[in-house]
Amino acid sequence: MKEIILVKIGEIVLKGLNRRQFEDKLIKNIKKTLRHLGDFEIKNAQSTISIIPQDDFIDLDEVCEQVRKIFGIVTYSRAAVCPEKTLESILKTAPEYLEEQLREAKTFKVEAKRSDKKFPFKSPEIARETGAAILRAFPNLKVDVHNPELTVTVEVRDYNAYIRGKALKGAGGIPVGTGGNAVILISGGLDSPVAAYMMAKRGVRLTAVHFASPPYTSERAEQKVVKLLKRVAQYSGDMIMYTVPFTEIQETIREKCPEEYFTLIMRRLMMKISERVARERGCQALITGESLGQVASQTIGAIVCTDDAANLPVFRPLIGMDKQEIIDISYKIDTYDISIEPYEDCCTVFTPKHPRTKPVLERVVDAENKGGFEPMIEKALQNLKKTYINTKED
Ligand code: ATP
Ligand code: MG
Repeated sequence: MKEIILVKIGEIVLKGLNRRQFEDKLIKNIKKTLRHLGDFEIKNAQSTISIIPQDDFIDLDEVCEQVRKIFGIVTYSRAAVCPEKTLESILKTAPEYLEEQLREAKTFKVEAKRSDKKFPFKSPEIARETGAAILRAFPNLKVDVHNPELTVTVEVRDYNAYIRGKALKGAGGIPVGTGGNAVILISGGLDSPVAAYMMAKRGVRLTAVHFASPPYTSERAEQKVVKLLKRVAQYSGDMIMYTVPFTEIQETIREKCPEEYFTLIMRRLMMKISERVARERGCQALITGESLGQVASQTIGAIVCTDDAANLPVFRPLIGMDKQEIIDISYKIDTYDISIEPYEDCCTVFTPKHPRTKPVLERVVDAENKGGFEPMIEKALQNLKKTYINTKED
């Protein structure tokens, strides 16, 4: 039986002039995500996007797995294309196609939508007849119009009639690319991949920046970040990762700055470098995985000091979340198992024994100025390593 996927898009952002832009971007993202699975025709009408496979070899389970992760989709469902656009064909197709779902349910109802007004039967009639046909095939089922376990939907559209059962929950959010560009400061930890996912969900296209301090941090630690970003890219789409050589800066911090400010100064310099990468690549904000009070460098006072270093807005989508809430999302987006692999991060290289939890900004800035970091920042920026992140194999 020929099947397609029907996708319902968000309602809230679909107002006024945004709508067209939103839909166009979503369709583009769908095409791009699915292109390696075969050829598809994509149609958009009445708040529904139809994904129509054009090749026989296409695996619809795989298509659904990808569609599930595309932001801007509220629900999606597989639907059978009735061989003919006639009531007879609808009545035959519905019980056959939904056999499994109908067998599992105790109650059901049928909803019919007729956007082709030339179809000779009206919606209530289509629904009634389809319900009767289903009851003939599954006499134990009961109709419940208020709270059915399964809603069977018949859609009579321009060229075809479609039958669909359960709608599945989509990724929500808004299409990546409609929310501007931002730099995600990505480590190998649990938090920053989740932060990246959350901002991509709000339509932000990501560029990743990772700080590496070889030989204190290993090549494998960097590969871990690449693996994490590949998982994030399943939701956010392809992105570029810049690896910043950070060793000289970290060694200088250790030599020239007071130990209690090591982490803070390091974080400020990360912000400064990330800001310059952002400006150069047309990004309008920075994103971090910080959560208030999680560690000494994430107290309000520490965040004041970090924020001061950059002149771009810093998005911290995890700021009010508990660790467990962050972990729950990392499970959902499949980054947890990679994040917990035990590799060092440059943040853990020279950690002070007694970091200041209530730092005074002026003192931190003074201490930082003694380091003479500007030429080192310049040098690091000139030696960025560029890695293309796509969703192909981990
Ligand atoms: P994460 O789990 O994301 O590593 P964390 O709770 O361990 O976060 P920190 O190590 O203090 O917290 O880092 C705070 C934030 O700083 C991270 O969420 C990330 O955005 C950024 N960051 C930390 N280390 C790096 C790094 N090596 N490269 C780029 N960004 C980093
Ligand atoms: Mg970390």
